[in-house]
Amino acid sequence: MTTKSAAAAARATVYGYPRQGPNRELKKAIEGYWKGRVTADALRATAADLRRTSRQQLTDAGVHEVPTGDFSYYDHVLDTSVMVGAVPARHRDAVAADALDGYFAMARGTQDVAPLEMTKWFDTNYHYLVPELGSDTVFAADSTKQVDEFTEALAPGLSARPVLLGPVTYLLLAKPAPGVAADFDPLTLLDRLLPVYAEVLADLRAAGAAWVQLDEPALVQDRSPAELNAAARAYRGLGALTDRPKLLVASYFDRLGDALPVLAKAPVEGLALDFTEAAAANLDDLAAVGGLPGKRLVAGVVNGRNIWVNDLSRSLATLGTLLGLADRVDVSASCSLLHVPLDAAAEHDIDPQILRWLAFARQKTAETVTLAKGLAQGTNAIAGELAANRADLASRAASPITHDPAVRSRAAAVTGADARRSQPYAERTAAQRTHLGLPLLPTTTIGSFPQTAELRTARADLRAGRIDTVGYEQRIEAEIREVISFQEKTGLDVLVHGEPERNDMVQYFAEQLTGYLATQHGWVQSYGTRYVRPPILAGDISRTAPMTVRWTAYAQSLTGLPVKGMLTGPVTMLAWSFVRDDQPLGDTARQVALALRDEVGDLEAAGTSVIQVDEPALRETLPLRAAGRAAYLDRATEAFRLTTSGVRPDTQIHTHMCYAEFGDIVQAIDDLDADVISLEAARSHMQVARELAAHGYPREAGPGVYDIHSPRVPGAEEAAALLRTGLEAIPAERLWVNPDCGLKTRGWPETRASLENLVAAARTVRLEI
Ligand code: GLN
Ligand code: ZN
Repeated sequence: MTTKSAAAAARATVYGYPRQGPNRELKKAIEGYWKGRVTADALRATAADLRRTSRQQLTDAGVHEVPTGDFSYYDHVLDTSVMVGAVPARHRDAVAADALDGYFAMARGTQDVAPLEMTKWFDTNYHYLVPELGSDTVFAADSTKQVDEFTEALAPGLSARPVLLGPVTYLLLAKPAPGVAADFDPLTLLDRLLPVYAEVLADLRAAGAAWVQLDEPALVQDRSPAELNAAARAYRGLGALTDRPKLLVASYFDRLGDALPVLAKAPVEGLALDFTEAAAANLDDLAAVGGLPGKRLVAGVVNGRNIWVNDLSRSLATLGTLLGLADRVDVSASCSLLHVPLDAAAEHDIDPQILRWLAFARQKTAETVTLAKGLAQGTNAIAGELAANRADLASRAASPITHDPAVRSRAAAVTGADARRSQPYAERTAAQRTHLGLPLLPTTTIGSFPQTAELRTARADLRAGRIDTVGYEQRIEAEIREVISFQEKTGLDVLVHGEPERNDMVQYFAEQLTGYLATQHGWVQSYGTRYVRPPILAGDISRTAPMTVRWTAYAQSLTGLPVKGMLTGPVTMLAWSFVRDDQPLGDTARQVALALRDEVGDLEAAGTSVIQVDEPALRETLPLRAAGRAAYLDRATEAFRLTTSGVRPDTQIHTHMCYAEFGDIVQAIDDLDADVISLEAARSHMQVARELAAHGYPREAGPGVYDIHSPRVPGAEEAAALLRTGLEAIPAERLWVNPDCGLKTRGWPETRASLENLVAAARTVRLEI
């Protein structure tokens, strides 16, 4: 390999592209199909159209080897389950009757049959459907999707590369099927799975594929020797096939670490590595294995999961150091562009100056092409792009938006004392007891009440100018009156205002904080047809006026019972936004925390005695490798304490978490130094209560006794039984009674009945202690 020939061969590629279309056409077609308004043929035609447009966009931009097979009607892990024939027994009839309906049944369930479980895709906000496997799983190559989508791309003469989820990651993401022993290890199925991959590879080869990409992101996590062995076996096996395309094994989201020597030695023709956040580590590891002689290296130098313009000079420097390490170096985004919105050019409300700092999927694609050209032909060939890029980076670095002196000096002056309550928990809790005068087993809710069609209409009316702010606020106040009066009637102890004014728990605050940007079309797939528009933490963050006090104070004015103030915590604000890449995450977290701290102070000053700071995402952004976790949790808990520590000892701070298992972060939960935590627990029969107890968690806790994820109404006896289970782990003086999470997705009838039952359960169990 020579540096020169490696450079000359450089090309641009990407691993995947947003699926939805410029106006979320895919979402509309799929949901239309579900409602019976769109035929299967029309849905397929829309999907084919979107795929064609994406391929054309990529080709026109100058991408070599357009990815295929990354399209999905719902999720690419589910597609892989279909590809290998791993359809759960309960869905087989539906799949046999109609492949498309069966597919959606696996994704969403039906009246009678539960869907596959859904969980987060590594540390992103994308969710995949968990494969269910057991020792009796029989794999079979059951789908022509990969070949069809590849062939469809070839037709107009494009060069294309099918992208598949790799067999090792597929098994590592799977879990034992219902009824299979919990300790069943799906990885034991590897030898059964590989022949199916071999068949698919042979089919793709027959269809004309020169290269196939196998994604193995699970190999960037800490892996046991047995798992690394499985990876070695898998790629030795696939590599030894004679009838196959060249194999590119792709990794992203972190360094390959111990898996790098394994893959470097494997008889595959190419590796893709992430050179964004993990650049230094991957470079060191690559040097340590002596490079990838004879192989193709795809370098992910353009961050595929943030929305910032690339530093082209820096990326070129990284690419330059890679040249001597492989036969050929190609340039890519670090991961599928699925995780970013489609096109920054569609944003008309963002200041044109700031817009130049942003790069969505289309812009990122152009960046990879520019970089490949620069690498192949020298920097002179991209002089114009480099100059423009330097100017954009300089404008961002020098902008008053990214450098607000007041915010910076305040953040710099923060001391350890600012992140510590003035009294230890044991003393505060006594003061709070006197101040609040709550009964044993106090009842409360997590914050939101049903977001009714009327509320959404009110917001749409306001946006469209059909009503003015005064009219809108009257509707919100009317809703708050209803929510308060319902809670009083039902007998809840700590009330909430119901969050009717919030479109979303992050966006609501982002819209009011200076330094945050909202997008108009910045949709990113969260799961299936659900798309979110994460706001952008673009500059230094400050709060110009109270954000929630008006509504909490109004609610409090209606009742003598305590009304809980409700805020989204700093860690969750970061987790569900695009974060800055021009300063350490800890600095951004601290700025957000300080802005929220002012809100906490204003709520307290307005007479709020209980303030809840939600951190449902705390567990989600935990680093993929154990090595980074302690530092992350330190930063996260500090930001939470900075938000909440300015209050009087008798003001009670609550927090709330959901969507996760918490067993491994109980210490961090304790380090939040909140007075009360509510947690999702109903479906796991109070598992988290036992985990808190095992840790010796000393504070008050409300493990949920009402699963809010379905319209099902839990009976009073069922909730009471859960409470009794909770009492086995948490003493009565410290146990709260609440649902698992907010009620915004529920309807009023089931909310009413469920909360009445929850209060009845608390009353019953109180008499037993
Ligand atoms: N307070 C929020 C609500 O009730 C919490 C939502 C969440 O945890 N995701 O809606
Ligand atoms: Zn929740």
